[in-house]
Amino acid sequence: MRTYKEVLEDGIQILNAAAIEEARLDAWLLLEYAADITRAWYYAHMDDMLATETEARYLALCAERAQHIPLQHLTGRAYFMGYEFYVDERVLVPRQDTEVLVEEALSHLKDCTAPKVLDMCTGSGCILLSILKEREDAEGTGADISEDALAVAKENRRRLGLEKRAVFVQSDTFSADYFQKNSGNTSSEYDMLISNPPYIRTQDIQELMEEVRLHDPMLALDGKEDGLYFYEKITAHAGDYLKPGGWLMYEIGCDQGQEVAEILKKNRFTDIEIKKDLAGLDRVVIGKLQTQEEQNV
Ligand code: GLN
Repeated sequence: MRTYKEVLEDGIQILNAAAIEEARLDAWLLLEYAADITRAWYYAHMDDMLATETEARYLALCAERAQHIPLQHLTGRAYFMGYEFYVDERVLVPRQDTEVLVEEALSHLKDCTAPKVLDMCTGSGCILLSILKEREDAEGTGADISEDALAVAKENRRRLGLEKRAVFVQSDTFSADYFQKNSGNTSSEYDMLISNPPYIRTQDIQELMEEVRLHDPMLALDGKEDGLYFYEKITAHAGDYLKPGGWLMYEIGCDQGQEVAEILKKNRFTDIEIKKDLAGLDRVVIGKLQTQEEQNV
């Protein structure tokens, strides 16, 4: 048997040798997961012996991570806005950058009571569900083309106790019956439409890191030729589903700010803002649907 510290050092070496970007951190997070320990516990016990089965399980996980399988797929969990989400290969792993979008959404909903939110391309459901956790008076719809992704979103809805306030719908943007005006769906008027759609140009996908290129669903990445396909498609119909004065909020690729802002302008949106992420890159575009009076001017 070997100590926690020795085994952790092995893990770090395995990941370093495989050129994993954050080898030390990932080796630690896998140990935390495999041995079910916390950092504080580790520092008090790092010279204790680790059970042989646990060591074997840990080293097997490191070997998988060395194959560039995302850490979150190995542990089945990702943290977003302080909440734990179940994830696997059926959904895009929630990104920290996307928290900027959710923070902006919450601040734009501040003066709205009982807001209704539509999350288009919901994936794991992380955007919609974290908004609902933060706003107890809110309810919403999450739509995605992928049944597989929706199964994950529903599992997250259950784990977060949001069954009563979130509806998930299989839909290629607005194609589902649910979104047709006479479908009996009473929640067709939203205060906010929010989306982190696929926005990578098809030709750029090959340049992404292996974890993303081979393990995130291709459907969740590919924004087609110019990466703007979903912004065009969603924005063209957003006005039919938003209340006048409602907000349209997008996450964007860092070089898409101006182009997405133009798409919003072309479609009757005003008060357009481009917001940056923590790295100082353009990450969010926001617009407001004109009110009826504004449209008549
Ligand atoms: N809305 C999900 C997220 O932000 C999924 C996005 C996607 O699949 N493009 O993580």
